[in-house]
Amino acid sequence: MALYGGIEAGGTKFICAVGSNPDNLHAIERIPTTTPAETIARTIDYFRRISATEPLTAIGIASFGPVDPNPRSKTYGYITSTPKPGWMNVNLAGEISGALNLPVAFDTDVNGAAMAEARWGAAQGLDTFIYLTIGTGFGGGGMANGKPMHGLLHPEMGHIRIPHDRKTDPFPGTCPFHGDCLEGLAAGPAIEQRWGQRGETLPIDHPAWNLEAHYLSLGLMNHILMLSPQRIIIGGGVMAQSQLFPLVREKVVAQLNGYIDMPQIVQHIDTYIVPPALGNQAGVLGAIALAQTTFN
Ligand code: ZN
Repeated sequence: MALYGGIEAGGTKFICAVGSNPDNLHAIERIPTTTPAETIARTIDYFRRISATEPLTAIGIASFGPVDPNPRSKTYGYITSTPKPGWMNVNLAGEISGALNLPVAFDTDVNGAAMAEARWGAAQGLDTFIYLTIGTGFGGGGMANGKPMHGLLHPEMGHIRIPHDRKTDPFPGTCPFHGDCLEGLAAGPAIEQRWGQRGETLPIDHPAWNLEAHYLSLGLMNHILMLSPQRIIIGGGVMAQSQLFPLVREKVVAQLNGYIDMPQIVQHIDTYIVPPALGNQAGVLGAIALAQTTFN
């Protein structure tokens, strides 16, 4: 069976692995994201070590961004306008492909995870759905008509505007580009700065969670109306607070107010807004799924 390398390139760590599906995933290694030179060199070392005994067919990179995912572009495979220091305009795919002499497939972390969920997880049988991750940032990707969502660049589902009532929540938001966009109000850093402690240390009945669910439901309402997803998968560190799921589902139904009159929403919201079936392996499996597209 062909073996593939996968890199979930995150802002805090690169998770590297080898395999072909959820039942064959091994040699998982976490490399801290420091400078591009050091991080990429350690990633290349890892794959050189692996491929000495296990020849790889291709490598997939599912990266934090924004990125250039357009194979026809001169900067294909680059991390582009990221606010992460040192990582702007880094040729991530090119450096790895060149050093290892292997084909490399490249996309956003969320499009990769969406592809893995479509192949092996919570989006099997669907052709149009979205995958959101809410942690240190708020990312969103997915598939439309069976293909990863691209376009001018790729969707940035966390940077949309939602109503922000400054009387009930005077917190100005954390997004360096937009202040109180959805990411600025609802990603992990916003929770920590608004309440003065990290989200995972807040009790489950803390008002933070009702406010969080309120913002998420407003964002999801926009995603539902704009993209008409057949399902919404939500992962990331913030969503490890599983009490959020029932709150978000209830508020989404209330916000839509019967307008999208489909059984998935009106009767079966519990199976419409769901966590990733692949859990925290969705990211690195996404990179493996991407690698497999190099010959499809
Ligand atoms: Zn923003």
